[in-house]
Amino acid sequence: MSKLSFRCSCGACQGEILADPQRVSLCYCMSCRKRTGSVVAAQARFLSSDIRLSANTQAYKRITSSGSEIVFDFCPDCGSTVRYRHEALEQQTIIPLGVIDEVELWQPTAAIYDDRRPAWLPHNEHIEWLD
Ligand SMILES: [Zn+2]
Ligand SMILES: [Zn+2]
Repeated sequence: MSKLSFRCSCGACQGEILADPQRVSLCYCMSCRKRTGSVVAAQARFLSSDIRLSANTQAYKRITSSGSEIVFDFCPDCGSTVRYRHEALEQQTIIPLGVIDEVELWQPTAAIYDDRRPAWLPHNEHIEWLD
């Protein structure tokens, strides 16, 4: 795979992706709604060693319902979340699909909290639904 770039809305935070993701998913949970300002979050999980991010991001830490910590790195100027890391996924880094320039490259294969999906948002038959 050739290098891919990702960046925040204003361009102050830019990074590179060196390899394909291990997993691409959708999430309909309330926390992802609030974080993105949207009703669905799409994200790709990579090995941390395949991600380069050279920028001064700001961190927001949240404790999940299961008690583990997630750290969201966002641009201090425009607020875009450009990366996040889950305590339980030590070697991995998650990048929101929306900040990756080539958004068509990978398709989500899993979705979480489908029971919270708004009824007007169609169910995708090609995705495995997890609760
Ligand atoms: Zn920015
Ligand atoms: Zn979520």
